[in-house]
Amino acid sequence: MTIKNKVVVITGASSGIGQATAHKLASEGAKLALGARRSDRLKAIADAFPAGQVVYQTTDVKDKQSVASLVNLANDTFGRVDVLYNNAGVMPISELAELKVDEWENMIDTNVKGVLYGIAAALPIMIKQQQGHIITTDSVAGHLVHPGTAVYASTKYAVQAIMDGLRQEQVDNHIKTTMISPGVVNTELYTSISGAEQRAKTEKAEKGIGIAPEDIANAVAYAIDQPESVGINEILLRPISQQ
Ligand code: NDP
Repeated sequence: MTIKNKVVVITGASSGIGQATAHKLASEGAKLALGARRSDRLKAIADAFPAGQVVYQTTDVKDKQSVASLVNLANDTFGRVDVLYNNAGVMPISELAELKVDEWENMIDTNVKGVLYGIAAALPIMIKQQQGHIITTDSVAGHLVHPGTAVYASTKYAVQAIMDGLRQEQVDNHIKTTMISPGVVNTELYTSISGAEQRAKTEKAEKGIGIAPEDIANAVAYAIDQPESVGINEILLRPISQQ
């Protein structure tokens, strides 16, 4: 089975990378269960495809029951879960001395615990199936840190450890893992930066260089569209003009 007819759960499907991936995979015939907090946007995606191909549910990845309910929606509707794409994330970056503790907690809860909740929901189903694929959006920030990105980068470094641990533990159950690690992508992510100075600095550094969310969707599709014996463990992709 290639992408066509695969059952794929996507978190953070209401904008940016998740939205572009939903369109790409549904266009290639996948069956989707989409989650995010803004369900009106999920409905707009579902409405663009034949009835029943794309289902959706209001989902908050900071709530483990909410994530489990989304994964169960896919399993109940389509009879299995082939791929879980943990994509939801936030990036309210700031320097540590600003002590934006609530924002640190939001990043850790969304970007790390949200990924773990996805794994907790999908893994038992995939082990039973003796087949599955867990994909997570990591980042170039999972490989290096800059002033202002310490907490955000720490969440993406954590994803590296979680995903590689998962890969090693699940080889006998035929469960693949992939990290998608983008550089700058033109999405709404930057609007979550609350500090005017940090936001201006980030926008100045990254203005005009970002690649499109569709470029990342193509990488996700490539990772899924592989022979059963091939695992694409990480795809790291940057705009060619990013240092
Ligand atoms: P967007 O802001 O466009 O998308 C973020 C998505 O995450 C939205 O669909 C949002 O939906 C969802 N989300 C955020 N918080 C929650 C939550 N608590 N529960 C459910 N969904 C949530 O940005 P991107 O598309 O860029 O971000 C997607 C991923 O890509 C993130 O993990 C980000 O860290 C990563 N990334 C992005 C890069 C970039 O340059 N843009 C570079 C490297 C990695 P809603 O608000 O409706 O809940």
